[in-house]
Amino acid sequence: MFDVLRSIFSTDLAIDLGTANTLVYVKGKGIVSNEPSVVAVYRDPRGNQKILSIGEKAKEMLGRTPGNIVPIRPMKDGVIADFEVTEQMLRYFIFKAHNRRTFVRPRVVICVPSGITPVERRAVKESAESAGASEVYLIDEPMAAAIGAGLPIAEASGNMIVDIGGGTTEVAVISMGGIVTSNSIRVGGDKMDDAIIQYVKRRYNLFIGERTAEQVKITLGNAFPSDEDGGDTMEVKGRDVVSGIPKVLELTAGEVKEAMTEPLNSIVEVVRVTLEKTPPELASDIVDKGIVLTGGGALLKNIDVLLRNAINLPITIIEDPLSTVVLGSGKLLDDRDLLREVALSY
Ligand code: ADP
Ligand code: MG
Repeated sequence: MFDVLRSIFSTDLAIDLGTANTLVYVKGKGIVSNEPSVVAVYRDPRGNQKILSIGEKAKEMLGRTPGNIVPIRPMKDGVIADFEVTEQMLRYFIFKAHNRRTFVRPRVVICVPSGITPVERRAVKESAESAGASEVYLIDEPMAAAIGAGLPIAEASGNMIVDIGGGTTEVAVISMGGIVTSNSIRVGGDKMDDAIIQYVKRRYNLFIGERTAEQVKITLGNAFPSDEDGGDTMEVKGRDVVSGIPKVLELTAGEVKEAMTEPLNSIVEVVRVTLEKTPPELASDIVDKGIVLTGGGALLKNIDVLLRNAINLPITIIEDPLSTVVLGSGKLLDDRDLLREVALSY
């Protein structure tokens, strides 16, 4: 009886607490919010801090604030850099999803990067509880991604998922509802942006901002440009390192690919290493089924071609890779047994 009431009045939530983006799914409604995991904090001279904005508004401030306002990405490298700010961010997203109109305390499934420590997991759980959750379940990101991708994770057969996020790339082989082998590296979309910034600075003496670099990656980035693609160009604005004056420059896709070589190699390498650690029977399943790519980095043009060339296995990119994890977490709200099976203990 209580369960029936609960399903009518409560808004069970699934949250993808990503290093770059936080998405919220409400049972029965779907994805209700999708915002950058950024918090703008004002610090007064005495060191007290006050949160000014969270999400989209805070991301717009990146690189554009006076010294006393700091945009923070509390999960940036897949670890919680700032507990207090992470908690505030989580609360904000939970309250926003609720519209402050709940009658029953909700169940909340939260997907976290697999590199966070048990202490950090507990902190996330407690933050969600203090924001009103009755039951909190934490799920490893690759597991949620595999469920969201519709992989047959319960079968006795190997499934490999590669999630290229902002701060991290996570690779996992899943079979019979558990992660058999996995790896997580602190290389993802952010490192590609950094690499572009460094390249432009070194080669052209031009400072460009993080947001500009991300735009270059999204618009012009190509992990495996053909001779024709390599000539695609884009105008980039920045500030001259020497004269300090704003300047415009034309970059080619070939240059951007060269700039991103190191992070792209790291991603190929972590996939290779994970394959090497995979038990032979499961590896042979992966040879047949291939590897599934998800996360925002899967949208980088030709990232599948790069991987296919390097490791000679079929590569599939999930449709709408930015939503896979939250949709997978959302599916768990409807499947109590599976939820219990895959939830992390703290
Ligand atoms: P996280 O799960 O860590 O929050 P996401 O899966 O949301 O990360 O992916 C965010 C990353 O994907 C960012 O680095 C972003 O720049 C990158 N990204 C988004 N769209 C594209 C695109 N079209 N091409 C390349 N990278 C992209
Ligand atoms: Mg993610």
